[in-house]
Amino acid sequence: MNKINSIKPLRVGVLGFGGLGQAAARVLAVKKEMIQVAAADAAGYLYQPEGIDPDLAIRTYQQKGSVGHLGELSQNSIKDLIERADVDGYFLALPNLPNTFMSEVVELFRELGWQGVLVDALKRTSALEMMLQKQEQLQGAGITYLTGCGATPGLLTAVANIAAQSYSEVHQVAITFGVGIANWEAYRATIREDIGHLPGYSVEEAQAMTDAQVEALLESRQGLLSLENMEHADDIMLERAGVCSRTQVKVGGVVDTRNAQKPISTNVKVTGRTFEGKISTHTFTLGDETSMAANVCGPAFGYLKTGFSLHQRQLYGVYTAAEVMPQFVR
Ligand code: NAD
Repeated sequence: MNKINSIKPLRVGVLGFGGLGQAAARVLAVKKEMIQVAAADAAGYLYQPEGIDPDLAIRTYQQKGSVGHLGELSQNSIKDLIERADVDGYFLALPNLPNTFMSEVVELFRELGWQGVLVDALKRTSALEMMLQKQEQLQGAGITYLTGCGATPGLLTAVANIAAQSYSEVHQVAITFGVGIANWEAYRATIREDIGHLPGYSVEEAQAMTDAQVEALLESRQGLLSLENMEHADDIMLERAGVCSRTQVKVGGVVDTRNAQKPISTNVKVTGRTFEGKISTHTFTLGDETSMAANVCGPAFGYLKTGFSLHQRQLYGVYTAAEVMPQFVR
């Protein structure tokens, strides 16, 4: 049966129920082709084959700390959920702390003999490299894995690949993002991982910081994190797609942790030379009204849908967001 064209919606799970996980539940709530049947956080999981009520799940998580209060409380929530739930594909909205965490989660799916589609919104080059190394194992396991499918890497990396097609030679891809969030606690992992990109900080140091230390750091910077020359996987994704060398890709941005409005517009600039010898720059700018959550979760599910069509054709293994197109989820 062709699941994509069938009336029966694809059964989706979301691992991680923080800022992105909750936004993902809201994004899915208005979709007909996908239904969220599973969610997990650090303290529990929820599996409802008939579909999860996002408002109830979010309220429970925010008031009691875990969706497990509606489902099952567990210290091994991911493993328990994978074993118990009938799910076609998962969006991994988990913190990548430590930098090997997501790789270990994928290993768990494989060890448990799970088959289906997985999509992540990984950011760091070194973390995405770990996923690319799993190509053969995941291919053998019957898992279709789409990596780097958020906003950057993700949407903007894919745009850069398309924009590059006008040129005979690509000189630079420059991604500049602006993120505005009203309070950092709604996106703890995102902010901690961003701190790990600041000069003088590592992922391990950022992970070890207490909430009070994070608050003190943000206070000392008036709530703003300015990031330059980040270790972002857009570089190897574009290199792998043949667009340019990783050294020609630059990523930086500004995160305002006290204001839902973006401090600057998010854009990608792709500079190159056409076959006529003209040097030019294409610029693609995201609408300022679109939030980080909209620009991460939308693409993640678009790539998940692509993943289902690849999986149906027995195309397993690892793909990046710059190699395949996302499909719009209705
Ligand atoms: P968050 O801190 O708000 O939420 C993390 C969630 O994961 C929480 O619900 C927590 O309970 C759960 N969790 C933690 N450990 C777990 C475990 N062992 N088992 C099950 N659940 C566990 O995180 P966030 O700010 O939503 O960010 C999630 C990820 O998305 C981060 O890694 C971030 O870097 C990434 N991200 C990517 C992009 C992009 O454009 N590519 C943009 C933003 C965020």
